[in-house]
Amino acid sequence: MIESVNAPRIVPLEHILPDEPLLMMGAGPVPIPQKVAAANSIVINHLGETMNRVIGQVKEMGRYVFQTSSSHVIGVSGPGSAAMEMAVANLVLPGSRVLCICNGYFSRRMVELVRRVRAEPVLLEVHDNQGADPEAVERFLQDGHFDAVTLVQGETSNTVCNTRLDRIARVAKRHGCLVIVDAVCTLSTMPLEMDRWGVDAVITGGQKGLSSIPGVSLLAFSETAWQQKIAHREALPFHWCLDAQLADKFWNQKSYHYTAPVSGILALHEALRLVCEETLTRRFYRHRLCSEALQAGIEAMGLQLLVDKAHRLNSVVGIMVPQHVSADRVRDHMSRAHKVEISGAFGLNILRIGQMGEQSRAHNLFRTLHALGSSMRAAGEVLDMPAGMAELERYLSNGI
Ligand SMILES: *Cc1c(COP(=O)(O)O)cnc(C)c1O
Repeated sequence: MIESVNAPRIVPLEHILPDEPLLMMGAGPVPIPQKVAAANSIVINHLGETMNRVIGQVKEMGRYVFQTSSSHVIGVSGPGSAAMEMAVANLVLPGSRVLCICNGYFSRRMVELVRRVRAEPVLLEVHDNQGADPEAVERFLQDGHFDAVTLVQGETSNTVCNTRLDRIARVAKRHGCLVIVDAVCTLSTMPLEMDRWGVDAVITGGQKGLSSIPGVSLLAFSETAWQQKIAHREALPFHWCLDAQLADKFWNQKSYHYTAPVSGILALHEALRLVCEETLTRRFYRHRLCSEALQAGIEAMGLQLLVDKAHRLNSVVGIMVPQHVSADRVRDHMSRAHKVEISGAFGLNILRIGQMGEQSRAHNLFRTLHALGSSMRAAGEVLDMPAGMAELERYLSNGI
């Protein structure tokens, strides 16, 4: 038999992947629990009784995690960005005006999504690594008619938190706006009460706060948003895959939209089940304790954090890199010598350590802080490593 084109010579995966998996302590993807990994290895029929039970539970757990009673919890086959796009594509009509609160890279992505559905984004830029001020938002809303407001809860890019999200959402509602919140890195790591705060769409991804796999995401629409913009809409949204009415066929009516990412949904089911088993209250406490302990340890070593305490995100910790130190060298040393991976940043001279899901475990903190300190030393920085490790230990054992 003659092949028309020679088959390529391919290096097997085991020769590409590191011998020992790296501990993923960056800004996502994050390590997944064994139960999530096991679920992700199973394929079942995307329709039928088994899948219906799984979907029913994913929605029920989703309502708990989003803190909503809405019946419009919907999964998306795609990254967190696809869930962002789904929220925007179904709630923002061409020609409408949207106030986009921008404190970094991901909030600016929302601007782009708004523009692409032919709506008009108006930017409220928040500078200096700060969270948005509800009064500043209110002044903007008074000055012009807006249909919606978009914002992130946590800006993974520069580790800023919009800590007054609840007040901003209430102000936006008072001005008749729908509120769209990106909670990709924060959901299940810190409080977000969709119904009580009046949020109309909450977006999350798999690979961050929830500690599931990347590529299967979840979002929730409020009952109000669904009635106003989706149930009685006059025009079709631009995206067929992201059409919420079509997605509703699968997520609420047990029928076919597109073939659901079954393995990923099983993984998400397990990730959500572990959240429910832990309870949100305990999970929030664990994340806060671990993140603050890590921050204290980093500072006690002699390094500085990027963001002031009042606006600081706990889900991702941003560390200033001293001027004479190369961030890339530190990361490279951490990966090679300690098998710990952390993140750099888009354009900022910082290192970022994630505190999402499985990352917030005491044993991972000790290994990561040690690897950071030792790699900073290798890159030429003078640090008090024992003081840092001692502070981490002290903080974790004292609690908050
Ligand atoms: C990671 C992230 C996203 C994008 O998620 P993808 O899965 O990469 O599309 C959006 N918003 C925030 C806040 C994020 O942290």
